[in-house]
Amino acid sequence: MSETSKFTVRNEPFTCIWCGVEVQPLAGGCRNHCPECFYSLHLDINPGDRASECKGILEPVDVESHSKKGYMIVHRCKKCGQITRNKAALEDPVQPDSLDRLLELMRNA
Ligand SMILES: [Zn+2]
Ligand SMILES: [Zn+2]
Repeated sequence: MSETSKFTVRNEPFTCIWCGVEVQPLAGGCRNHCPECFYSLHLDINPGDRASECKGILEPVDVESHSKKGYMIVHRCKKCGQITRNKAALEDPVQPDSLDRLLELMRNA
């Protein structure tokens, strides 16, 4: 097997660029946003691949409610303008996404 594992998911703690919170990795998932302010960085082309060269700030702009997937946070990149979506992790046992912040985003969207 010489194929490079480009789909390896890296799931490491990181410090939020927006509010400075230490963000713990999501158990059994891939979190790319801060659970407090929902800001993120444009690092992925596909979730978790860290393959994007952009590295712009992803601003949370909307929340979508899906019957199967639950809530999806919609981000827009401040640098390149790309829209990305990431599943909200409201039930994460370690560091759940802020429900208050989610509701605030839904109101303001
Ligand atoms: Zn934050
Ligand atoms: Zn971007």
